[in-house]
Amino acid sequence: MRVVVNGAKGKVGRVMVAAVEADDALEFAGAADVEDDLAAVIRNGEAGVVIDFTAPSARMTNVKTILESGAAPVVGTTGFTPEDEHQVDTWAREHNLPAVIAPNFSIGAVLMMEFATQAARFMPQAEIVEIFHDQKAEAPSGTAMTTARLMNESNTFQPPQRVGEEFLDGARGGDLENIRIHSVRLPGFVATQEVIFGIPGERLSIKSDAIGRECYSGGVLFAVKKTATLAPGLHTLRGLMGFA
Ligand code: NAP
Repeated sequence: MRVVVNGAKGKVGRVMVAAVEADDALEFAGAADVEDDLAAVIRNGEAGVVIDFTAPSARMTNVKTILESGAAPVVGTTGFTPEDEHQVDTWAREHNLPAVIAPNFSIGAVLMMEFATQAARFMPQAEIVEIFHDQKAEAPSGTAMTTARLMNESNTFQPPQRVGEEFLDGARGGDLENIRIHSVRLPGFVATQEVIFGIPGERLSIKSDAIGRECYSGGVLFAVKKTATLAPGLHTLRGLMGFA
């Protein structure tokens, strides 16, 4: 499989170039970044798949260019709305190609979300603590929000116990349908999330730790290889892992 990496000079893109080059089953077919003509790089590299980690503002333009160039996009760039995803699905079907979009390509993070969703069925009281590097643009993380939403689809969560007096605004975190989310931002971290369930007499912790951006390589290369057998249209990493 011949693979182009778009956003190849970026933090994640650089890791993706190294991962593709190191994989014997894949051929690195070229690198593109903001100043390049992506369609030309795909054409010259005769690429069948393009890994995209660029900028949210460029998400739709890039996906459209990739599909129009005859390659399957595997996209980690964030910012896709449900309407965007619907549009990508339509474009992919029109071009008879699969597309994969995942806001988190870490295999451990997908499993953490899945296990938390299962646990939620039996333990309807939980809080989420998520810790990211201090350059992260938003809080809470998209992963934390998605986790809480999936848990809420599994069960009706009980409101957290009211603390008698709150001496500091925000001390109890943000509230997403009765699941409190606490966001920590510190250098020295990549991405950590712990979902803590508590019911009378017992507790359960489900935690994933990404300690380097290589954590995204496994999920991305898994998706890249899967594109060979996927039906046309949009796919998620959760779906490819058999959870959706
Ligand atoms: P980054 O370090 O800023 O890298 C992005 C690279 O893409 C930069 O070299 C940037 O160039 C380039 N770029 C910007 N616009 C482009 C365009 N239109 N076409 C081609 N290249 C373009 O960012 P990052 O940390 O690698 O993250 C990239 C994206 O992936 C973000 O949306 C981030 O949230 C997301 N992300 C997703 C996952 C996941 O698992 N799905 C994990 C981590 C990050 P300039 O610097 O010159 O603008």
